[in-house]
Amino acid sequence: MLPKSCKMPKQKNMLQIDVEDWFCDLDISEWDKHENRVLEATNKILKLLKETDNKATFFMLGYVAEAFPELVKNILDQGHEIGTHGYSHTRITNQTPKEFEKDLDKSLKILKKITGEKVWGYRAPQFTIVRKTAWAIDILKKKGLKYDSSIFPVKTPLYGVPGAPTKPYRISSEDIGKNSPQETFLEFPLSTFKIPFIKKRIPVAGGFYLRFFPYFFIRYALKKINKKNQPAICYIHPWELDPDNSKIKSLKWYYYFNIKSTEKKFKKLLNDFRFTSNKEWIENAGRTN
Ligand SMILES: [Zn+2]
Repeated sequence: MLPKSCKMPKQKNMLQIDVEDWFCDLDISEWDKHENRVLEATNKILKLLKETDNKATFFMLGYVAEAFPELVKNILDQGHEIGTHGYSHTRITNQTPKEFEKDLDKSLKILKKITGEKVWGYRAPQFTIVRKTAWAIDILKKKGLKYDSSIFPVKTPLYGVPGAPTKPYRISSEDIGKNSPQETFLEFPLSTFKIPFIKKRIPVAGGFYLRFFPYFFIRYALKKINKKNQPAICYIHPWELDPDNSKIKSLKWYYYFNIKSTEKKFKKLLNDFRFTSNKEWIENAGRTN
């Protein structure tokens, strides 16, 4: 419990780390050509979380977990949650249901072998649970997971389920854009902010958006969410805290935009808000409709 004098928001927020290396948005056949930097960058995040007494969910890419099992153990030992980000970082929009299931299974087996624990949560590569890949929800349920956190309730050129709930809800593959009270499987949509007057939603959930917007705006938007007694749900990648890394020319501008600003902004975020893992939120604080 927070002391009474503490001015932290009552509503605990959720922080998620998508643990992949800086080259994982290339095809997996290209990965061996690049230097692994994920260990150092993830350790930097672990240190910052420890210093600010925050917890997070680490959505591990199976490939990274397989290469660095000690990292997975270390994350778990520090009280964080281990979730899965699949194995090969393939967009679900480029997979058949069978391919998706195989990739997910591979990651789950690797994680189970390392931790001995069942994984509760899933994050899709590049947030690719969208209306046409709604079938993925049924596969996640079938595999015994308890929640997904891949839906952005906005329209962007790359992803999004416009009109979907903006707070944790119960999700069904029949309509992933609405709360389905009969379901037990949960969805944790990434945080968005409705701009007054034009009433348009924009993402504010960390990652690229933390780099793109000035910090005071992110802080304002997340405070607004907390004022409605709702948790903010934010993410970040380890490579976003590794600005000295060489750049991959084939990756688009938004991968490196303002990357030097990430660490400073991320530290402010960790000091201004209280974060926990999705699992802890479900167990202790969580109330969904
Ligand atoms: Zn990813």
